Amino acid sequence: MSYITATTLEDALTALAAGPASVIAGGTDWFPAQGDRHFDGTLVDISRLADLRGVTKTDRGWRIGAATTWTDIINADLPPAFDGLKLAAREVGSTQIQNTGTIAGNLCNASPAADGVPPLLTLDASVQLTSGQGTREIALCDFLQGVRKTDRAADEILTAIHIPDLPDGSKGCFVKLGARKYLVISICMVAVVVRVNDGAVADIRVAIGAASPVAQRLTTLETALRGLPAKGLTHAITDDLVHGLTPISDVRATADYRQAAATQVIRRAITLALEGDP
Ligand SMILES: Cc1cc2nc3c(=O)[nH]c(=O)nc-3n(C[C@H](O)[C@H](O)[C@H](O)COP(=O)(O)OP(=O)(O)OC[C@H]3O[C@@H](n4cnc5c(N)ncnc54)[C@H](O)[C@@H]3O)c2cc1C
Repeated sequence: MSYITATTLEDALTALAAGPASVIAGGTDWFPAQGDRHFDGTLVDISRLADLRGVTKTDRGWRIGAATTWTDIINADLPPAFDGLKLAAREVGSTQIQNTGTIAGNLCNASPAADGVPPLLTLDASVQLTSGQGTREIALCDFLQGVRKTDRAADEILTAIHIPDLPDGSKGCFVKLGARKYLVISICMVAVVVRVNDGAVADIRVAIGAASPVAQRLTTLETALRGLPAKGLTHAITDDLVHGLTPISDVRATADYRQAAATQVIRRAITLALEGDP
């Protein structure tokens, strides 16, 4: 195995295209997944590429560089719609993992339990992919295709995440259900972005992770809740509106538990997001 610390994106793309090679950012998913297996290729470390790091305002919304760490996101000055993403960042592993692990690593690893995915789905995020052939942008919901499966080609690097502007008054929240409070992989997690106008729900977006191979938006529930009074909204969240989940049984929880817990976690996340909105 050889290891390259890329100093330009072009160098990283060239090394990747030459293959066999693998991109690495924080390495917090890559190394545990590799285990004792031998890797006979080039590890292309993109964590030092300054252009890939940081959160910036653009003319159409926000750009989060691929190599932005969870700690960078926690510390970024962002509007309340991003509160769910910030709360998720605080729940990724430990402080050490948050200091090293990156947002794009979380997406490209494509775990059903990736905490970054539900909040980004509620923010209508898209991902920017770059190769020697050029750059393309694709909605996050289309990028993620299954367990450990994405639309990324072998010679592409995820370079940025783009999030369109949201109307003023949008507020985000994130609730993670785990077997303990700290340093835990999600049993399920829910992200919400809600906006209230004159006491009624003007817009609401709800996404759930670890309850299907890929985290998903709950569009039936969203449609049912839009326009309802914000006060007492959780009473309108019924099990029959939370459909389309295909939870599995694993060491963390049974499928039945996940299904039953989902409605409760959704209610909790929406209640917290609405706090302050009478
Ligand atoms: C102890 C521990 C606790 C953890 N807890 C959590 C948790 O609570 N929640 C959670 O969601 N995750 C958790 N994780 C997983 C991991 O920390 C996160 O998913 C993190 O965001 C991964 O980022 P990374 O930069 O370390 O990814 P890496 O390990 O560097 O890469 C992950 C994968 O993505 C690819 N990749 C990385 N960046 C790019 C890019 N820009 N373009 C193309 N491909 C890329 C790599 O080739 C690799 O396949 C935990 C991990 C550990 C070790």
